[in-house]
Amino acid sequence: ALFAGRTILASSISKSYTQEISQKCQTISSSIMSPKGKKPFLVGFLANDDPAAESYANWTKKTCEEMGFEYQLRRVQNKDFLEEKIIEANNDDAVDGIMIYFPVFGDAQDQYLKQVISLEKDVEGLNHTYYQNMYHNIRYLDEQKTKKSIVPCTPLAIIKILEYLKIYNPLLPVGNRLYGKKAIIINRSEIVGRPLAALMANDGCVVYSVDVHNIQKFTRGEGLKFSKHHVEDLGSNTPELLKQLSLDADIVITGVPTDNYKYPTENIKEGATCINFSFHKNFTEDVKSKAGLYVPSTGKVTICMLLRNMLRLIENKYQNTSS
Ligand code: NAD
Repeated sequence: ALFAGRTILASSISKSYTQEISQKCQTISSSIMSPKGKKPFLVGFLANDDPAAESYANWTKKTCEEMGFEYQLRRVQNKDFLEEKIIEANNDDAVDGIMIYFPVFGDAQDQYLKQVISLEKDVEGLNHTYYQNMYHNIRYLDEQKTKKSIVPCTPLAIIKILEYLKIYNPLLPVGNRLYGKKAIIINRSEIVGRPLAALMANDGCVVYSVDVHNIQKFTRGEGLKFSKHHVEDLGSNTPELLKQLSLDADIVITGVPTDNYKYPTENIKEGATCINFSFHKNFTEDVKSKAGLYVPSTGKVTICMLLRNMLRLIENKYQNTSS
């Protein structure tokens, strides 16, 4: 009989984290880290009238409450006041985490807003310090290695999915667990594709990073000789080069934000793992005639990682005051 791959849903993957997160949330709420015994408190800022952002906000609230967190949505009618509102929340000791539903202005000003959230409350991990640590493969914020750096939550979710699928080999040392694997990622945005390529390459993977224009290779070099990834240009994004690299890839990750884009099934290596993080279906119905494992969406895991990041921020804050 012909082999057909398995679909693994984000909801099943997130279940393996919900218990760990709610338990830790409870421990923190009833510990010295929460002096008044209050629940970790996340504030989301919504300054657009995008129905997608609205539903994401509702969904964050639901997940927060299910897992023992407190959540509040703060709507800001006039975008120009958003910065002040964020600063207020930065200065409010009752608030443990802050996130913004993007796009707000839809241009470079959004980059500025990301940096307004204080480092200590940035649950999505969008601060420049966290990005720089990630790109440089620096895993702690302090020299004593007591405070772990925060990883942006969407690429982190995909890393956790790869761990769940056992693509990360736990028999290899931490930091090299993707050694010998090759991946292709169709998306090189600064919010998902590029950080993801860097994270995977830092863990030992050879990554072909594809955007509309060209293809790059992210790697730590032969025998993992570099301590962080290097980037090489491989040339324009042509169907020939794409097919050649794709047929060599154990992992295919797509994030193309359009309905009409479909990853060619004939380019998938037999038994490869296929993951789509775009809100649009980037694989066709027959993907499992080639893929061994197929993950059609990742959003539910992303929200878990957001809450996991928040617990880490609280622990880091406690490290600050206790040392
Ligand atoms: P973006 O528009 O910033 O980036 C899109 C990337 O895809 C770019 O690098 C672009 O060059 C590349 N691309 C577009 N068409 C291509 C093609 N035909 N071939 C090769 N590359 C192509 O978008 P984004 O912010 O990275 O978001 C991408 C998708 O992921 C969206 O659907 C978004 O909603 C979704 N998303 C999901 C999550 C989640 O948690 N699941 C989080 C963030 C974004």
